[in-house]
Amino acid sequence: MKLTIIFRGEVNFFLSRTSQRSVFKHTLARKASVKDIVESFRVPHTEIGNLLFNRMSVDFSFNPESDGELVVEEIKSPYDVTRPSYLRKEALDELRFLADVNVMKLGRLLIMLGFDVQVSDSFSDKTIARIADEEKRVVLTRDTDLLKRKKIVFARRLRNHNPYDQLYETLHFFGITGPFNFFSRCSSCNTRLERIEKEKIIHRLAPKTKKYYNTFYICPDCMRIFWKGSHHDSMKKRFESKGIKV
Ligand SMILES: [Zn+2]
Repeated sequence: MKLTIIFRGEVNFFLSRTSQRSVFKHTLARKASVKDIVESFRVPHTEIGNLLFNRMSVDFSFNPESDGELVVEEIKSPYDVTRPSYLRKEALDELRFLADVNVMKLGRLLIMLGFDVQVSDSFSDKTIARIADEEKRVVLTRDTDLLKRKKIVFARRLRNHNPYDQLYETLHFFGITGPFNFFSRCSSCNTRLERIEKEKIIHRLAPKTKKYYNTFYICPDCMRIFWKGSHHDSMKKRFESKGIKV
């Protein structure tokens, strides 16, 4: 079978840099799903917003059985993962993330904005895929091959290197405009913080913290203590300098 494959929009990011083409003649020697065909060009299924075979919408499991034209389109931003689509009929209830080890800092920044983010420091690809599937999380990564796993349905392969640029990219791609729940989760383990009376933790405070601060929060999981000190203020300024109002 002979296919003409046309890649449209941002999926071109994944194509071989040397060829600089977005239209390919492809001969299919054996039966293959559209997912496998497209991923043989390095485009992970998670980055595809629409598939057309001879101008008809098809899903990832479709096997072309005649010659034809396959159009592969990008996911258009803002990408609302809570709305079902032809390719992803089961939408998510809410936007929750799983940050791969290569975007850990991005993961921590999203936690600081109040998002539920599982941050991986040592998960295998298989474990990431399993957690994403079971906990219905959007995977954030710079590893293209990871996103070829079937169990990963929602994801973003980050284009940027700098964590703050990645944060902007994530917010923009998923159409997140706030308001944010800044400083509501433990930046270490993602658990929701709780208010705690100063008297109960006073023995754990450094003299200056004891003197200048009165409002404290605790992570009920890892027991870390938080207060709105200089680190909080500098983070807030940093976010705001990037146009993110917290
Ligand atoms: Zn914690």
